[in-house]
Amino acid sequence: MPKFVFVTGGVTSSLGKGITAASLGRILAARGLAVGSLKMDPYLNVDPGTMSPYQHGEVFVTEDGAETDLDLGHYERFIDRNVTRASNVTTGQIYNAVITKERRGDYLGGTVQVIPHITNEIKERIHRVARETRADVVLVEVGGTVGDIESLPYLEAIRQFRNDVGRQNVVIIHLTLLPRVATGELKTKPTQHSVKELRSIGLQPDIVVARADQPIDDDLREKIALFCDVKLDNVVSEPDCWSIYAVPLQLEESGLGRTVIEELGLTDRVPEPDLDEWRSLVERIRTVRIPLEIGLVGKYIELQDAYLSVAESIRHAAWAAGCRPQLRWIDSEKLEGGDLSLLAGLDGVVIPGAFGYRGIEGKVRAVRHTRTNGIPTLGLCMGLQCMVIELARKALGTDEVSSSEFDSFTRHPVIDLLPEQRDLADKGGTMRLGSYPCVLQPGSRAHKAYGQPIVLERHRHRYEFNNAYRELLQSHGMRFSGLSPDGRLVEIVELEGHPFFLGTQYHPEFKSRPNRPHPLFVGFVEAALANARASGRAVETSAAQRTVEAG
Ligand code: GLN
Repeated sequence: MPKFVFVTGGVTSSLGKGITAASLGRILAARGLAVGSLKMDPYLNVDPGTMSPYQHGEVFVTEDGAETDLDLGHYERFIDRNVTRASNVTTGQIYNAVITKERRGDYLGGTVQVIPHITNEIKERIHRVARETRADVVLVEVGGTVGDIESLPYLEAIRQFRNDVGRQNVVIIHLTLLPRVATGELKTKPTQHSVKELRSIGLQPDIVVARADQPIDDDLREKIALFCDVKLDNVVSEPDCWSIYAVPLQLEESGLGRTVIEELGLTDRVPEPDLDEWRSLVERIRTVRIPLEIGLVGKYIELQDAYLSVAESIRHAAWAAGCRPQLRWIDSEKLEGGDLSLLAGLDGVVIPGAFGYRGIEGKVRAVRHTRTNGIPTLGLCMGLQCMVIELARKALGTDEVSSSEFDSFTRHPVIDLLPEQRDLADKGGTMRLGSYPCVLQPGSRAHKAYGQPIVLERHRHRYEFNNAYRELLQSHGMRFSGLSPDGRLVEIVELEGHPFFLGTQYHPEFKSRPNRPHPLFVGFVEAALANARASGRAVETSAAQRTVEAG
């Protein structure tokens, strides 16, 4: 029988519930437990795939091609275990499933209701993750904040679930915020109210994790224990942290791992946590010295969460190379007037994915700049497409070159739909999604970086390189160094004679891990570091000067 840990959030959103859940996953995995994870999102969209990055941040893509919440990226990076489609559920999916059954007549004429039909469907999704992951412990994060109307069916489902599987198999953790008021004091009242709200629907938390800007003292912990009816040891302080990757160590030190194990009755069955590897990772992050400035040219940069996995992948590779990464967020629309001063002094440039025409011309300008000036460049998905458009414009001597995503009547659709894709009407879930094999050309930069002949990478795009332009671009130095096994689809382009100019149609950023950076990001960072050294920028900072960019 697996154990279940539910994580709810109170007082406000954006408390770092995902990081806390992922960090707990790490410290449980460090005790040798197999950890499964599930994020339950109370919105009505079926998945975040059709949502604006401004609304939702990044869409994280799983191996099996699900478009999911970005917290799943944290789970994979922290727990170091791939998740699947089963690990993200939304209210849209739950209602979809129930209504489909109703139309099929599965309910045999009964009245279909939130309780029990919606709650049963939610409970079934929790059991499904347990079955599919064969986990010892399933971590379930409830999106939103306790008190939201949307969350109610989930909390009710958890209440029932706890009785179904037995209370000894379930732990409920409530994460709250202690705000600091004008007098300088941290306040517990919002926490008390939020726990009261939980209890009003029949859920008593076993553990309260209190977020605050500083560690909370014993007086405050006693107060929370008293008012919220939890054991003193079960009030855990989670102060702001200098790096997200230091949070597992912080939580282990504050006793959260031990408390959860005790509450689940596992104390005698699991060893002490082995966090040595994680500790050396965090030590490396703390002590890296060589500054490296990487530009990220995107159009959703007001919300940096839109590029979460890309930013993390750059950091992972930089830390492994002994560098202190500094990200410069560049709004591609600002480059469209022709002033490229925002790109000055960069060691390397990443052009991430995107949908729609807005900001494209700025990215194409950025690519022209990095191509002609020998600046290491990594293009991801739309980034590859911009690299192709830029070189084709030069090769053809005309700007009438585009992707049919932006201009269905362009003279030169160098990026286009495949013939069989042309009739699709639905926007949701109709892209090339998830893991596909890519065959690498021997001797190419991609092949050298990966050190293996075939790789599997995750996709999320609709448009493809148009093979009618392969020869032309080849004659202008472009190498098609990664192809689908049948040779039809271009997966990687690179430029000969450039220090590093490589684009992928897939998204390598979804597979980078803090302790195992992605080979292409490693190759890119090495080239960026060489560039920084050649320009005299890669000067080690002294310990005193050093300010580590918090993850
Ligand atoms: N919009 C492009 C396509 O659908 C690129 C997608 C992306 O960058 N993820 O092909």
